[in-house]
Amino acid sequence: MNPLLPLHGANNPSSLAAGTNPGSFASRADVGGPRAYSSPDTPGMPEPSTKTAWDFLPAGWVRRGAFAEAPAGFVPVTQLEHARLGVVTPAMRRVAEREPHLSAEQVRDEVAAGRMIIPANRLHLEKGLDPMCIGRAGRTKVNANMGASPVSSGTDEEVDKLHFAERWGADTVMDLSTGGDLDATRLAIVDAAKVPIGTVPIYSMIIGRKLEELDREVILSTLRHQAEQGVDYFTIHAGVMLRHLPLIKQRLIGIVSRGGSLLAKWMITHGEENPMYTAFEDICAVMREYDVSFSLGDGLRPGGLADASDAAQLGELQVLGELTERAWRMGCQVMVEGPGHVPFDQIEYNMKLERTLCHGAPFYVLGPLVTDIFPGYDHITSCIGATAAAYHGASMLCYVTPKEHLGLPKRDDVKQGCIAYKIAAHAADIALGIPGARDRDDELTRARAALNWERHFELSFDPDTARAYHDEDLDVDTDFCAMCGHDWCSVRISKEIVEFDSGKTADLQKARALKSPALSPEQREILEKRGVLSPEEIHKLASKTRKAVEASDGKASCHSDYVDDGVAERIQAERLVQLRQKNASSAAE
Ligand code: SF4
Repeated sequence: MNPLLPLHGANNPSSLAAGTNPGSFASRADVGGPRAYSSPDTPGMPEPSTKTAWDFLPAGWVRRGAFAEAPAGFVPVTQLEHARLGVVTPAMRRVAEREPHLSAEQVRDEVAAGRMIIPANRLHLEKGLDPMCIGRAGRTKVNANMGASPVSSGTDEEVDKLHFAERWGADTVMDLSTGGDLDATRLAIVDAAKVPIGTVPIYSMIIGRKLEELDREVILSTLRHQAEQGVDYFTIHAGVMLRHLPLIKQRLIGIVSRGGSLLAKWMITHGEENPMYTAFEDICAVMREYDVSFSLGDGLRPGGLADASDAAQLGELQVLGELTERAWRMGCQVMVEGPGHVPFDQIEYNMKLERTLCHGAPFYVLGPLVTDIFPGYDHITSCIGATAAAYHGASMLCYVTPKEHLGLPKRDDVKQGCIAYKIAAHAADIALGIPGARDRDDELTRARAALNWERHFELSFDPDTARAYHDEDLDVDTDFCAMCGHDWCSVRISKEIVEFDSGKTADLQKARALKSPALSPEQREILEKRGVLSPEEIHKLASKTRKAVEASDGKASCHSDYVDDGVAERIQAERLVQLRQKNASSAAE
């Protein structure tokens, strides 16, 4: 049998076309076109939009050849405006250095088409931001969420988590703080970050005031304040509309986005349209001034498999397409947020529908989780969905940690989430045939074939864990490991078969087996913990949370399961205020 390989002309992800693999089964690269790096479309998938950001130029702009002309006296601010005028900015040059398969001109052209963003607040650039890009012509990016909640963590802990997330490969970080000193935490994170920082500004819009009091002035002044602090992108839930709200009644889990649920409550209370939607052009004007990019929020994303791809979710996505066009007309960079919890078979459709409705604006997805019954392991359930999402068109993956649905991630949860998502992003980049994406894998395969443990660890994404696990069973750096043992080590036997070249590369060979050096303190700690919290640590964390919600008898008195709605509302208001005052005073101490 000589099966025909389904090759569609994608690049080989290995620079040397190493090994016996025929390369990627993805589609031919189309940088400069709507598909960039993409999976072949399964029959029935939506076609890419025929429009780009070029079709939504601001009033007074005129297309001239490859670029555009702005009205006389216009001063460009955003990366999109520079790109439209044909300018290659220092940020674009830096992005091209970090994405060696792209030239600075290609980066500019992708930004001009709206298929790529460089989230870089001009003030954060001055503070040391290292510019990166989000778009399907570049490598897949990973975002890590963090932030203090009313019951846990504080500014120092969050800055520590930021550095930890950067260490473990987060390309951007979102500060989702809802407790503690929000302002100080945000500023500390932006000042310390080399990666772009995103926020969901509605959180700080409602701290210290009733949700009902949210109005245009509060929205714009909060956005301006955070833009001045240097935040690089804002999640704005402007796509949730009054007409969508009846559609969520049949859902199993209603609205699971914090921003989406808050705005839905505001709309029902006032009987008016979403204020983020009605003030959208004013919001654009503030964001343009600092080049804060949009992350158009998916307030109606599904919170369970049963609610995926429903009318509410897709109705909102359609509005996000309209808002993308409006933001482009205002000169703003845009990415679009996506689901959530999606059965594996529906992921390709979701990614390709966004490509159509939002004209190729980068898609930034949370997961998606492909099953709901593994709480505690949702970094795994979601990174499976995230790999499919990136292969089918998502440009950035928002990580999920093992604490998802259960509590605020701690330091090690951040690491587990980052690694799960680096795996998803990297696997998709290889599958898509992005040039050079597989080079490190091939190098590690060579080291593994040569049984060169030092090089093997060095090339590992997490060398400490790799060495610790190896040395846990056998701390001798020899021609086999403890998994199969000497006599059954197929790699050692392969090395002995003279016909095979594998594992014999001169620079990977060792003259003789070496004893492994002793484990470093970090590596010893990895073995000691092996991902297990002691019962004492668990009780310490639980009692801290119980104390914060004043639920010493086992239940928080504000829970609406225990009291009627009116009482719950009153107690919640009092309790939240108390918590805020407490956090403010403890931060001042
Ligand atoms: S002993 Fe088994 S697992 Fe270990 S290197 Fe050899 S073949 Fe690989």
